[in-house]
Amino acid sequence: MDKIVSLSRRRGFVFQSSEIYGGQGGCWDYGPLGVQLKNNIKQAWWQSIIQERDDVVGVDSSILMNPRVWEASGHVTGFSDPMCDCLKCKMRWRPEDFEGTVCPSCGGELTAPRQFNLMFKTFMGPVEDTAAVVYLRPETAQGIFVNFENVLNTTRKKLPFGIAQIGKSFRNEITTGNFIFRSREFEQMELEYFVKPGTDEYWHDHWLQTRLDWYASLGMNPANLRLRAHCDSELAHYAKACSDIQYLFPMGWSELEGIANRCDFDLKQHSEHSGKKLEYFDEETKEHITPYVIEPSAGVDRSVLAFLIDAYTEEPDKDEIRSVLKLHPRLAPFKAAVLPLSKKEPLANLSKEVYASLRKAWMVTYDDAQSIGRRYRRQDEIGTPYCITVDFDSLNDNQVTIRERDSMTQVRIPIAEIKAYLFPRLKGELK
Ligand code: ATP
Repeated sequence: MDKIVSLSRRRGFVFQSSEIYGGQGGCWDYGPLGVQLKNNIKQAWWQSIIQERDDVVGVDSSILMNPRVWEASGHVTGFSDPMCDCLKCKMRWRPEDFEGTVCPSCGGELTAPRQFNLMFKTFMGPVEDTAAVVYLRPETAQGIFVNFENVLNTTRKKLPFGIAQIGKSFRNEITTGNFIFRSREFEQMELEYFVKPGTDEYWHDHWLQTRLDWYASLGMNPANLRLRAHCDSELAHYAKACSDIQYLFPMGWSELEGIANRCDFDLKQHSEHSGKKLEYFDEETKEHITPYVIEPSAGVDRSVLAFLIDAYTEEPDKDEIRSVLKLHPRLAPFKAAVLPLSKKEPLANLSKEVYASLRKAWMVTYDDAQSIGRRYRRQDEIGTPYCITVDFDSLNDNQVTIRERDSMTQVRIPIAEIKAYLFPRLKGELK
């Protein structure tokens, strides 16, 4: 983890939030490379969940919602962790985070555990009173449930179908940590997949496998992924079953994504609280039914961390150690780097032409500083899958050398063919 944290900071993947002011606990900023990686992960999720399926559509709902949403969902009363307060230093602790009966920080006396709600509160409008309280959403899912009828009416989808969204969520987590694994502001990629009651177990299995396959299809080592089913005592009040996809993080197996069978809990709750019937008319049986819902809920930031950890490799190279981020080309922040052998004309000119033409298609970088070996290392370390070297021969034969990151093999191809060469390789179809 230390290596990933230091690489992230040094190369511009992730910074501490408000660092010049001493930071802000549980909040992180993504730098120039981090935002690319994060966007690529979100894009790959969107493509597999929405673009390549007929049965799922997307939404983007607001973060601030009518507070009654959170009463209906159970978050106002139920979304809490038990906490003990230290009477001396005022620190707050989760019972599972300490042993004994006194404050682990100062040794002071602790209160008995009390429920502490994890939702952030703020006020909407000019008056800061209880009537103006709104919450920052602690999950994106409720923005989907409250739009169930809108989406059904506008898309005329038939069961089974899903509604998906990617967006920020906020939780006033008591203990944050393990870098971006647990923060107070984070992003989720959530799908609510509505099915006929009775088919829910089939679809739950379907989504467990589909989501596991997704991580593997983007190069994550399947040996570092496993499913863990929740036992009855762990299940949330709304869930009939839930399994986590866990990743073998440096601190041990931990949740990357949760996939729950939420039954008809949410639609029924919102029907009851809003007075609007949230139902589906089944043409076959001529009955109004409340669909069951399967929810694969993934964390963007936890995915960023897992993909970084999984890709990080150190290997011997001559007398040194080469560190390489073996990211899948679809996730890599830069798809290629153009490296002119000399900074001077006419080589610089030709190299800039190559660069300009490639960047219309992909995120590509340009590096003409220091030796070519050093430049390869820099690109390896940030996961750039292809380095394109423009040398003095290029001026005569109009060819360049392309070096692949993982195998370090090199091929020489005409400049006019670079795009056709890279296209299937950047999709991961060819190596
Ligand atoms: P945990 O038990 O680790 O707190 P959870 O079971 O509360 O997680 P869910 O409510 O199932 O998490 O949220 C779905 C996903 O959202 C999680 O699998 C995780 O990837 C992500 N997530 C939840 N809380 C956080 C957080 N505080 N920081 C970063 N990601 C989070």
